[in-house]
Amino acid sequence: MTTKAPQQFASDNYAGICPAALDAMLAANAGSAVAYGRDDWTQAASDAMRAAFEADAEIFFVFNGTAANSLALASLCRSYQSIIAADLAHIETDECGAPEFFSNGAKLLTVPTQGGKLTPDAITAIATSRDDIHFPKPAVVTITQPTETGLLYTLEEIREIAATCRRLSLRLHMDGARFAQAVAALGCTPADMTWRAGVDVLCCGGTKGGMAIGEAVVFFDRALADGFDYRCKQAGQLASKMRFLSAPWVGVLTEGRWIGYARHANAAARRLGARIEAIDGVSLLFPVQANAVFVVMPPAVASALRDRGWVFYEFIGGAARFMFAWDADLARVDQLADDLASCAGASGRNA
Ligand SMILES: *Cc1c(COP(=O)(O)O)cnc(C)c1O
Repeated sequence: MTTKAPQQFASDNYAGICPAALDAMLAANAGSAVAYGRDDWTQAASDAMRAAFEADAEIFFVFNGTAANSLALASLCRSYQSIIAADLAHIETDECGAPEFFSNGAKLLTVPTQGGKLTPDAITAIATSRDDIHFPKPAVVTITQPTETGLLYTLEEIREIAATCRRLSLRLHMDGARFAQAVAALGCTPADMTWRAGVDVLCCGGTKGGMAIGEAVVFFDRALADGFDYRCKQAGQLASKMRFLSAPWVGVLTEGRWIGYARHANAAARRLGARIEAIDGVSLLFPVQANAVFVVMPPAVASALRDRGWVFYEFIGGAARFMFAWDADLARVDQLADDLASCAGASGRNA
């Protein structure tokens, strides 16, 4: 525990706390404050979110993304309804049934996709496939921005999906676990990517953006937030010392720091992606659009890379996933690219 291990890029959750969030937590730790979110920090964080989104939104701070998504989706549908999602959506593959659990049984209707992006046609097809009483009536569509595969929906694509939702009387939820990375990559405003495009509720990631803990649930239509405070409490998501969940938002939203951190993460991913394109025998599974890089490589290369100490997961299409955070050390990114080139070269000579 005393020696610092070399930086790994297996997950953007490996990163520590960014300075803006940590400084705010330390500031919030000076003295005592009112509990359960009735403190000045939580008020300031909510106001800062409303300013960042240019909207009079209702804001809630919860501990993690699974809770944010599950509780937000539960508030958008009834137990006999359904949620349309991509097959690769985190709510389907990585939340252990929490959306179904917290919605008392609403069903996820997953759609096969190329890389995790839903389309208006796919949404329309599944939403209109049945209208009888035996089928759970679709109530909401969820999209992940950027996707679990590191792809982005363009603003136009979000607007088209939102128009489809309106046509079919569906609500639109956005899983923005890496929302800042998407904003940084598209160079748009948070408002353009959400309510102005037709998103009803956003789960806005804090953890992967550099906080210790915490996500924000942003209701652009305040009526949809009715009872959400009770929902959070019942689910064990009402922090008694709420200021430590909310203060980091004040820190990262100040002067747009969250977007600066995200820009760095995206740049690290692009740097690795560009190197990989020049290496024979390995390739990118998806174009690098945010902070993720998925590398297709022969098993021998993957194992040689592990032998050199690199840690990574292979859970989407068998490709090695590398994720970059606010703290990515670009020298270490270059080292990864060098090792990959050398392992792929050695494997090519042996073949
Ligand atoms: C990380 C992540 C979440 C949140 O996961 P938690 O571990 O519950 O915080 C949600 N959606 C996506 C797409 C994610 O990558």
